[in-house]
Amino acid sequence: MTDTDTPHNLPDATFYKTLLESTRAIPWQIDWQTLTFSYIGPQIEELLGWPQDSWQSVNDWAERMHPDDRDWAVDYCVSQSKAGADHEADYRAQTKDGRYIWIRDVVHVIRDASGNVESLVGFMFDISERKKIENKLFDLQKELEELSFQDGLTGVANRRMYDSVLELEWNNARRNQQPLSMILFDIDFFKQYNDHYGHIQGDDCLKQVAKTLSKAATRPRDFFARYGGEEFVLILPETDADAVQKVAERCRSLIFKQQIPHQHSPVSQVLTLSQGVGTIIPSHKDSIKAFSNLVDQRLYRAKQQGRNCMVNAG
Ligand code: GH3
Ligand code: MG
Ligand code: MG
Repeated sequence: MTDTDTPHNLPDATFYKTLLESTRAIPWQIDWQTLTFSYIGPQIEELLGWPQDSWQSVNDWAERMHPDDRDWAVDYCVSQSKAGADHEADYRAQTKDGRYIWIRDVVHVIRDASGNVESLVGFMFDISERKKIENKLFDLQKELEELSFQDGLTGVANRRMYDSVLELEWNNARRNQQPLSMILFDIDFFKQYNDHYGHIQGDDCLKQVAKTLSKAATRPRDFFARYGGEEFVLILPETDADAVQKVAERCRSLIFKQQIPHQHSPVSQVLTLSQGVGTIIPSHKDSIKAFSNLVDQRLYRAKQQGRNCMVNAG
């Protein structure tokens, strides 16, 4: 056996052609001078529906791209190629029947002996499955983020979200020297409600109360949350003491209109709330904690004063 017979020898062109045209990746070559395809694998027709010989110039490539991807993908590939840099780009290619398929194009720049760009060679990969999974993961991630800020029972924002929003609005109010108001709600004699009607109806009642109170917040930045148990909270940015008083009265009347029976409430035939109300233009001396405590103490006093009422001073 001579040296030239050994399997280490380069196979002939037929071998490469067969190899290139039997892979799932689609090989291509573009002549940089004329910006035309000197080659594209026949697999392109199976993937996108456009026949192999319909790929003539780079315009054919650019035109068969999603309009939202076209500008950046073409600009990026041209600038990288001019700079002689290998690169890759993900974009949506249009099929002959008008669908879009995610493609990853991996591009290698070939230069002549003097270093000038001569041609581009590359592979197109069908990455639509991967993109589908990525999109699904993205949606799930978003859903998870939303869920982690949502109260599982009532669907309104939870305590965690409340803490973040309060901090944000507190800083806003302090910076802009605007009044910030808060209403803390606590259902009256809810233990008796549960004891009498059962926990399932208790849960339904909490849902109804959450839905009703969230309607009282009408401005875009008004924020309503379940504070915990049978307690809810409203944060009202750029709302002064007179305005919050009106909102608190509206809350009381909205709940009253629901006429939720509460036979074992010592204060009423229907379900009622107590409210602690506060307004502050925060200065650097004030703290969120001290203000929250103040509103909580007012709620406590509303309970002491007989419930089904609000306390907004002292
Ligand atoms: P008060 O008028 O002083 O506020 O009396 P209360 O009975 O409302 O207050 P207390 O704190 O004694 O009881 C609160 C009740 O709320 C007890 C608890 O079982 C009930 N509760 C808290 N969270 C839930 C919930 O998610 N579902 C149900 N069904 N009940 C809850
Ligand atoms: Mg309570
Ligand atoms: Mg209560």
